Amino acid sequence: MEKVQTYDCTLRDGEQAEGISLSLEDKLRIARRLDDFGIDVIEGGFPASNPKDIAFFQELREHPLRHAKLAAFGSTCRKGTDPRDDPGLADLVASGAPVAAIVGKAWDKQVTRALQASLDENLRMIAESVAFLKDQGLEVVFDAEHFFDGYRSNRAYALECLAAASGAGADCIALCDTNGGSLPFFIEEAVAAAVDRFPGQLFAVHCHNDSGCAVANSLAAVRAGARSVQGTVNGYGERVGNADLLTVIADLQLKMGFDCVGADNLRQLTAVANYVAEVCTFSLWSHTPYAGSSAFAHKGGLHASAIARFPEAYEHTQPELVGNSTRMLVSELAGKASLAAKADLLGIDLTDHPEYIQSILDEVKQREAEGYSYEVADGSLALLIEGALGRYVPHFTLESFRVIVDDREDTGARAKDAQSEATIKVHVGDARFVATGEGVGPVGALSSALKLALASSYPQVAAMHLVDFKVRLLDESTGTDAITRVVITTTDGSSTWGTVGVSENIIEASWNALVDSLEYGLCRAGVPVRQGAGEGGAETWQS
Ligand SMILES: [Zn+2]
Repeated sequence: MEKVQTYDCTLRDGEQAEGISLSLEDKLRIARRLDDFGIDVIEGGFPASNPKDIAFFQELREHPLRHAKLAAFGSTCRKGTDPRDDPGLADLVASGAPVAAIVGKAWDKQVTRALQASLDENLRMIAESVAFLKDQGLEVVFDAEHFFDGYRSNRAYALECLAAASGAGADCIALCDTNGGSLPFFIEEAVAAAVDRFPGQLFAVHCHNDSGCAVANSLAAVRAGARSVQGTVNGYGERVGNADLLTVIADLQLKMGFDCVGADNLRQLTAVANYVAEVCTFSLWSHTPYAGSSAFAHKGGLHASAIARFPEAYEHTQPELVGNSTRMLVSELAGKASLAAKADLLGIDLTDHPEYIQSILDEVKQREAEGYSYEVADGSLALLIEGALGRYVPHFTLESFRVIVDDREDTGARAKDAQSEATIKVHVGDARFVATGEGVGPVGALSSALKLALASSYPQVAAMHLVDFKVRLLDESTGTDAITRVVITTTDGSSTWGTVGVSENIIEASWNALVDSLEYGLCRAGVPVRQGAGEGGAETWQS
């Protein structure tokens, strides 16, 4: 299979996205995770722009990546200056990164209007800057900014800019759809023209998603001869984002017969998407192609039995190839077949217990009528099924809990200043544990207290973290008597599960979802139920 180089811009373009702010540690974590995944080039940022990026390059000089080459990003020398006197280019060299990516203009109007330089001066800046960095022993990527707009406006000049970079020895020329306005047909035509004109030159494509075509444009460019693709994890980037590099990689490998990260590494794709989302403090959009939790989710009884017989009809590829899995959404419409299929996915084989299926289904329907929903609450559903089979023995039981929400006069009603404290009393076997936890909100305080109370009996709970908390009022017409449904998402670092609680009282609904989340975490890890001994003390746990 022919190789297509993968070039990640998450730490440069991705960081421009609204809502993303990465610390030094975050940037290093993402770089190392992408390195493990097999990305070929990782752009680290601007080595001159701020202390954080300077420290980033320093750290990777001391502890280099294992597979990926690190790229430092900058621009060509300024007009009327010699690259040898350019502080920005000097910073690229000093960064220690083996690859320098420099952006230069390839659109005549940009040169004359924005840069206010002559067209020839722009060509000089490109050629001399590339030659200077090559002389310093660096691998050079020339980013032809606005190449596609340039090609549309003045074809000959856009190609002359590429000639300047290519002639000066650029190792790779990235054709950039900087404002994201181009469509696949045009991208394919323009890339083909560049590839045709400069045989043997490596071309990359850099697409933004403003027209909703960033992934399609990247694939069209590869079809036309580009052999390097630039993008960001999950498409994070300014405005509507960049090409989602993970989707591009999966498409190139699974649909177009190219090699990017290898078949083994491709199985990490879903984990990488979730990991980077987590570091960026986002939850991965559930409808993300390949990696999202809904990417291979199916609803409806008839459909579920059909998919078991003929998965290709409803799944465009095998989810295992990208580390994802098929999900059956249990809904009020669920039939026996979809419940059995769902249980199977949860690792519970119901084929030996056909007599239980109807009673489980009845219980699911009864609970759904009360306001429960198991579509995203796999953990609670697994406990319900195991309970019906008589195999679920709770790891702990509640004696009581009390939550105090303290809103001091001097802090007013601002929620972020309110403090919550929870005290709980639980039993593990014959042992009784009392613990107090604090948190910004009552659920955080309850979670802290419960984890503290269980810490000595079940140290595994320390690794379980609440990552998402959703509240829904089910009958708003009755005001405060409305039924509240709380759905909690929990992770232990390697997998994620959902649990649900329902009550007229939001704290009680949260408590129920919280108990299920820890119980399910303990059950799936195979932690045996402890009989316990003695009395636990009271401690405080700050969340
Ligand atoms: Zn960009």
